[in-house]
Amino acid sequence: MSVSQQIMEETEQYVLHTYNRFPVVFERGSGVRLYDVEGKEYLDFGAGIAVFALGYGNQAYNDALKAQIDNLVHTSNLFYHTPLRDAAKKVIAHTGMSKVFFTNSGAEAIEGAIKAARKYAFLRDGSDHPADEIIAMNHSFHGRTVGALSVTGNSHYQEPFRPLMGGVKFADFNDFESVKAAVTDKTCAILLETVQGEGGIYPADPAFLSSVRKLCDEKDILLILDEIQCGMGRTGEWFACDHYGIRPDIMTMAKALGCGIPVGAFALNEKTAAKSLAPGDHGTTYGGNPLACAAVSTVFDLFEQEKIVEHVRETAPYLEKRLDALVQKYDFLTGRRGMGFMQGIVAEGKPVGDIVKAALGEGLVILSAGGNVLRFVPPLVITKDDIDEMIAKLEKVLGQIV
Ligand SMILES: *Cc1c(COP(=O)(O)O)cnc(C)c1O
Repeated sequence: MSVSQQIMEETEQYVLHTYNRFPVVFERGSGVRLYDVEGKEYLDFGAGIAVFALGYGNQAYNDALKAQIDNLVHTSNLFYHTPLRDAAKKVIAHTGMSKVFFTNSGAEAIEGAIKAARKYAFLRDGSDHPADEIIAMNHSFHGRTVGALSVTGNSHYQEPFRPLMGGVKFADFNDFESVKAAVTDKTCAILLETVQGEGGIYPADPAFLSSVRKLCDEKDILLILDEIQCGMGRTGEWFACDHYGIRPDIMTMAKALGCGIPVGAFALNEKTAAKSLAPGDHGTTYGGNPLACAAVSTVFDLFEQEKIVEHVRETAPYLEKRLDALVQKYDFLTGRRGMGFMQGIVAEGKPVGDIVKAALGEGLVILSAGGNVLRFVPPLVITKDDIDEMIAKLEKVLGQIV
């Protein structure tokens, strides 16, 4: 039995089977490459699901984390610490929001956003008749905890776990009339991903997003933008909503925020921060601990120093061009969608899971989304050469599929 096989079998023996994992055991990473325990090299266009933006083994990132580990890993939120101040300052500076709360995951950021929205309406309306309804989008993804699942517009994920959190209505993404039709005087928030990720890489239409923003302003409904996947430089702006010139009332982030250290956040604008969660309303033992905050702080610093956002903006058109050429060449590839380094190509009538698996055979990590989309969310440091190499590997796989 190979080393990989042994590890996989033992893992399956002890770890709850909630994932159909690919048969690869990764051991280490360097730059945009991963290596499995057999020593095989992979070009990584998945980045641990849009997380590892800086590439693997970034020395400055590693050194900062090591130094923080030696100093202090955890204190609880009963006390102040410098990394919290620093990380919060940077989140606020780059999001244009007013106050931030650090969580341990994306799903928890969504949970906090939901609580903040409900508390805002509760304080505004009084405890007798608070607006408590949230409008979320079909084909959205916001995470797996019960609250986050309740606003995830995919009945396949929801069905076995009913009853879910009440007061959620679904509308169609990029269909303003359907959103408007769902609004009542009980609506407290409208929640959407600026670019839908898991659902199949759908950017919001500018007209849709600005209409939703306007509607929210008119009715004092809170706009929650989930930037967990599309934020942190991925689309060629710090946050995807920057492309639209639109600020949410609440923004959620995670994934690349800590580049692999588990950390998420929700940030509130001034109006929402002033009248929502107060002492005693929300908490977490780990959330925003010194190690997590050192990661966030370092990620922002390195993004600045390495000009990551500019690099995405400059290099993404090349990725788009190469993907468009694939779509032209293969009949079963019917379109490309995306922004920056968050791209998807639609594979009609071919199982994308098989393509992803075959790509691993060629030493290429890509992801799927939405059932029929090949998803490309590489580390944000990839170069044109990496893109050429990815396309060459992918063409080998696509050639076998036809
Ligand atoms: C991944 C993701 C989440 C959930 O984040 P977790 O860290 O897995 O809980 C929520 N929203 C979006 C848009 C995501 O891509």
